[in-house]
Amino acid sequence: MAIDHPHHRTRISALLLVALWSLAESKYIAYNTTQRIVADKLNVHIVAHTHDDVGWLKTVDQYYVGSNNSIQGACVQNVLDSIIPSLLADKNRRFIYVEQAFFQRWWRQQSDGIKKTVKELLSSGQLEFINGGMCMHDEAAVHYIDMIDQTTLGHRFIKEEFGIIPRIGWQIDPFGHSAVQAYLLSAEVGFDALYFFRIDYQDRDKRKDLKSLEVIWRASKSLGLSADIFTGIFPKNYEPPPGGFYFEVNDDSPVIQDDPLLFDYNVQERVDDFVAAALSQANITRTNHIMFTMGTDFKYQYANSWFRQLDKFIHYVNKDGRVNALYSTPSIYTDAKYAMEESWPLKTGDFFPYADHPNAYWTGYFTSRPSIKGYVRMMSGYYLAARQLEFFTERNSSGYTTDSLADALAIAQHHDAVTGTEKQHVANDYAKRLYIGYSEAEKLVGASLACLTAPTSSPGCYNMTTKFEQCPLLNISYCPPSEVDLSHGKKLIVLVYNSLGWKRNDIIRIPVISESIVHDSEGNEIESQLLPLADATVNLRSHHVKAYLGISSSITPKFWLIFPVSAPPLGFNTYFVSSTKGKGLVASVSTFYSSEESKNSNIEIGKGKLKLLYNVKDGTLTHYLNSRSLVKASMEQTYSYYAGDSGSGGDPQASGAYIFRPNGTFPIKPEKKTPTTIVRGSILDEVHQQINPWIYQVSRVYKGKEHVEVEFTVGPIPVDDEIGKEIVTKITTGMVTNKTFYTDSNGRDFIKRVRDYRSEWELQVNQPVAGNYYPINLGIYMQDDSAEFSVLVDRSVGGSSILDGQIELMLHRRLLYDDGRGVGEALNETVCVNDECAGLTVQGKFYVKIDPLGEGSRWRRTFGQEIYSPLLVAFSIEDGGNWTGSHTANFSAMDPSYSLPDNVALITLQALEDGNVLLRLAHLYEVGEHKDLSAMAYVELKKMFPVRKIGNIIEMNLSANQEKAAMEKKRLKWKTEGSSGVETIARGGPVDPSKLFSSRDRPSRRKGLDQKRC
Ligand SMILES: [Zn+2]
Repeated sequence: MAIDHPHHRTRISALLLVALWSLAESKYIAYNTTQRIVADKLNVHIVAHTHDDVGWLKTVDQYYVGSNNSIQGACVQNVLDSIIPSLLADKNRRFIYVEQAFFQRWWRQQSDGIKKTVKELLSSGQLEFINGGMCMHDEAAVHYIDMIDQTTLGHRFIKEEFGIIPRIGWQIDPFGHSAVQAYLLSAEVGFDALYFFRIDYQDRDKRKDLKSLEVIWRASKSLGLSADIFTGIFPKNYEPPPGGFYFEVNDDSPVIQDDPLLFDYNVQERVDDFVAAALSQANITRTNHIMFTMGTDFKYQYANSWFRQLDKFIHYVNKDGRVNALYSTPSIYTDAKYAMEESWPLKTGDFFPYADHPNAYWTGYFTSRPSIKGYVRMMSGYYLAARQLEFFTERNSSGYTTDSLADALAIAQHHDAVTGTEKQHVANDYAKRLYIGYSEAEKLVGASLACLTAPTSSPGCYNMTTKFEQCPLLNISYCPPSEVDLSHGKKLIVLVYNSLGWKRNDIIRIPVISESIVHDSEGNEIESQLLPLADATVNLRSHHVKAYLGISSSITPKFWLIFPVSAPPLGFNTYFVSSTKGKGLVASVSTFYSSEESKNSNIEIGKGKLKLLYNVKDGTLTHYLNSRSLVKASMEQTYSYYAGDSGSGGDPQASGAYIFRPNGTFPIKPEKKTPTTIVRGSILDEVHQQINPWIYQVSRVYKGKEHVEVEFTVGPIPVDDEIGKEIVTKITTGMVTNKTFYTDSNGRDFIKRVRDYRSEWELQVNQPVAGNYYPINLGIYMQDDSAEFSVLVDRSVGGSSILDGQIELMLHRRLLYDDGRGVGEALNETVCVNDECAGLTVQGKFYVKIDPLGEGSRWRRTFGQEIYSPLLVAFSIEDGGNWTGSHTANFSAMDPSYSLPDNVALITLQALEDGNVLLRLAHLYEVGEHKDLSAMAYVELKKMFPVRKIGNIIEMNLSANQEKAAMEKKRLKWKTEGSSGVETIARGGPVDPSKLFSSRDRPSRRKGLDQKRC
């Protein structure tokens, strides 16, 4: 500051500049930012944006308020606060905001004045909501119902508060992209375009060469071109272009220094940098419009620091004149692309798996944190059921709502939440939110069931005499309401609620402390089976009850009580459990050790049509036989692990939360002298196997079912050998499958996968296992010329068919190194009791079935819905008296003669705050998936809701923020290369409201349901 000479030189150079450019002097410069699109120039659309993860390294609230900054200096509140004055300072400036979870946190704390200003900024288009869901959901480990729910929550808020309908999908960070995202969560919510960047690096290179980063994505075979979506893949990432264009306060890109009186005047250099970046991007982009995504994670915390530079770039670049720079948004950019009337390359299928490097396949996160994934899925099904009960008993009647669960579930869909790619403390935060949401929903469910069962003498919610409890820890056999002493004539009331639109027969199991029998609500004793609790189950229970609840349960149940139940569509039945010392049917338990009993080489399991054969010598599964379908197949099931690469070799890439990089595969052999225990009962047979000290498996064959249910308990995965391990199970058949298998997209369509092959480019295979992994939410199957072999899952997992005839699922992973994608932690989950921590144990289920060719889809779809929506089981105690005589023991919301067609599922039934009811129905089958069930379906709404008067019915888009007809009229119709644009799509017609009200016009009380539409 006090140094003379340089100052002096500055004066001289300034004088020189004055001499050269007579205008140059230090004074106020009115930057001209008014530029709009210029037809005959390269238009550089500057999109100012911030990417605000709804939890990742910090929790969602820490990110919002800006706490825990030692982890990451990020404060979303600063972003939203500082955007407002920056936009007001120049009406040409524009900004987009994406994550509604943050926006809503901010909005509710703003003054009326700020709210008014924000509304003005939104209506002028200076501020625009893009995407508009609560979070930017993941696309691999999420179920389509959750994607719809979280998007709806955001979209409806934006509609109600601002009257605005977001136009653009903005999935810029998720790690690969699903077909369901394209056709359901983009086209069917009414978006005009979808933007992202994470696609396989080989795919990207080819697309750059062919200028095919911008495509029309036709992701649904059923909806065809009617669900086309213009899709823009960014050339590199969602950050500013290469060349130094980061302008957060502490970023180090060169700012434009345009004061001639100061050192380092650099206007021309910076203009040159900008033009070079633009020309380079233009080289790989069709039309004369390119987008510069000016921002990245948690940027614009001091928005003016960016806008100051962007103003200058626009001003000087346009003065330069080689390219045309303008403030823009993805909407303006999309409209500009559309106006060019180009034909775009066609893309079908999806963008999985994603790799950003030859040894970096982002396929580990398909399985990372399997317990969170299981919890999210369990809560998703529960939320669906709880909303139905909320609807039956009127919203808010109990004082509880599902809103908190809705919010927690929405946030959990974020691409660093259910994916398992967040830090441990953030994972804990998501779980805590889910639990809080569940707790309120549980009270709502209990109260609703009390209303619905209320004494027949005084029905409704005014005289609730029954208190219902539920058991969220039933999976570890912990259920205090069923573990009661029933010895003095008390009865346990077991209510089973079915949230499906079909009648359902199922088997439930509850822990009981003594021998018990079961009666139905008519007083008939029904078949039941008592199964002694295995030691492994008891140990799992006591350890986790201590870990999760901090208590040691004083009682240990003796048996699982197993009995068949049935429940009507959208309704319940009740059952009564009573104690009968010494009379209950206890299943026979036999245990054999390897090589004993070896006279008979096979043991047969199963009392119904399905039988499994096990080899006595080593307790291994050998055959699968179905006497009805005549399917007969050899079948083996094994466990093995991949050693997680530590990244210590030539390529430092480790296997971690995101990335699956195996370094060898190792079979897990049952240890010698390990017993196989066979449990045989009247309802089901079970085979218990301690595969090794940390893998326990129960295979179940039910008399009345034709699939195998496998319950696995994996963990704690030992890592004292300093090797991270990724545990898989492999099921091997003799099927000839020609490298081909099928995996679902977010629980909907099955997409054909061919090992070591991509349809759109010549795949260079660097990772023969990780590069063939795909996300599985519903199931995976393969087929040969006579049969289909399907495996369905209870949560999202990764899986593949690495060998012909074989399906593998990755069930659990425990890793010791960070994989270098930002999370900065190894994926090493533990459970602690009294400060003693051990690796996380995961319990889950998968289901296996072989069908004759062409018949597998029915099971995958119907049973898949049952997995998603398990029966909701609630308990109460009948203490003397005659509960059935005075209460409503059976209920169905639907007409007793009616159930939904086999190919239609109810995916939303929700009473909204404004008194409307949101109903969503999903056709479960793709075109061509099943010979009969892929056909158009009809639903009789009046029979679905016989006691309700349907006042008016409006067909909405998928996120329920606009009428469907208006959306269809408005959506841009794009042209594809080499496509005639003529295609027959079978969609149902619009609902005719008149037919819903007329009571005389009986034959036509049907609602045409859009085929395959959600
Ligand atoms: Zn992100």
